[in-house]
Amino acid sequence: MSNIKTIKDVDLKGKKVFVRVDFNVPFDAQGNISDDTRIVAALPTIQYLLDEGAMVVLTSHLGRPKSKADTQFSLAPVAKALAEKLGKNVTFVDDCIGEKVKEACSKMKAGDVVLLENSRFYSEEKKNDPEFAKKLVEDTGAEAYVNDAFGTAHRAHATTAGVAAYLPIKVAGLLIEKELEFLGSKTENPVRPFTVILGGSKVSDKITVIDSLLDKCDAMLIGGAMAYTFALAQGRTTGTSLVEPDKIDLAKQALAKAEKKGVKFLLPVDNAVTQSIDFAAGKVGPLEVMGGNIEEGWAGVDIGPKTIELYKEQIAKSKTILWNGPMGIFEIKDCAKGTFAIAEAVAKSGAISIIGGGDSVKAIKKSGFAKDVSFISTGGGASLEFLEGKELPGVAVLDKKC
Ligand code: ADP
Ligand code: MG
Repeated sequence: MSNIKTIKDVDLKGKKVFVRVDFNVPFDAQGNISDDTRIVAALPTIQYLLDEGAMVVLTSHLGRPKSKADTQFSLAPVAKALAEKLGKNVTFVDDCIGEKVKEACSKMKAGDVVLLENSRFYSEEKKNDPEFAKKLVEDTGAEAYVNDAFGTAHRAHATTAGVAAYLPIKVAGLLIEKELEFLGSKTENPVRPFTVILGGSKVSDKITVIDSLLDKCDAMLIGGAMAYTFALAQGRTTGTSLVEPDKIDLAKQALAKAEKKGVKFLLPVDNAVTQSIDFAAGKVGPLEVMGGNIEEGWAGVDIGPKTIELYKEQIAKSKTILWNGPMGIFEIKDCAKGTFAIAEAVAKSGAISIIGGGDSVKAIKKSGFAKDVSFISTGGGASLEFLEGKELPGVAVLDKKC
């Protein structure tokens, strides 16, 4: 179990709480919020704090503004959407430090919600400037820190880590608690057999994750372009597939480690291949299926039908499944078969199923099986770093249960 204290471990009644959430939502061309998943994901913590009788001061970043002048990165529309979802007033302050913040926050009563403007309107946020962090705490009058922004927990910024130095209580929100439970506890002490499915584009992106998870899992299934660097390591030909020849040694080391640890390590036995890929148009040339060796002039774009069956068998036998990285170029419809078949198999396995990684989450949503998996991580980079075994700065600053 995670030993980080959460909002359930401390008394926040009547306290002014500085809550870092992830309201980094996407907008459509008309300026409307096009996906409110992140707002919805923050609601349990906000509601819990309100029910406890706390005063809730919310802070978040939105996009990558250069300065305050980039008004399209204002959190004002989020305040409106949040008020609708909470069914109560949300006071929006168009700054995150200074007089306006002091005034709005000093008037707060138990059960009130204030949302501060985009913390990245100040370059000090990303620099984790201590004076800026101190000002955030002083101007809001906060008495406790809650971090619930898992998606930015791998960054040591002022609102994700720096402010903690100036507050006596520092705890995780319910979303971070859940992330740590699924990505942490449930993979540290998994119900076995524990199968890891890894894909995506590069071995170099995932080698630390492979290494770390080989210590924990019973089986590892490899797909995506990553599989072709492993194929090179086994002396196979890969045609024009995406490969990293300078990572062959790392792939060999992973294969050796799997053998030593007794981890069943499965690589594709066949591949969907094509002679042309047009990413911009979202199209590929006619597809063929090739076995272990891919011929000159052909590129692997998906796992093949025999591989799908082989992987499905292993998935059906598993009690815990962790999936990161699509099996093929799922963004192109013709190359999404393998990824969607694996999504279906994972969803129907009855196992504890955990999905992490930005593109993997997009893939599971696109497959239509998102509702049937146990947990979908809200952190792209953060979930990868966590699975690599790194300590996340936004979690490291929180109080331990001791
Ligand atoms: P995640 O974001 O879930 O960690 P990655 O970023 O590692 O996943 O990988 C996702 C990308 O890998 C997708 O954009 C996908 O198109 C690409 N990919 C998967 N298989 C292949 C392949 N055979 N050839 C080229 N790219 C691939
Ligand atoms: Mg990605």
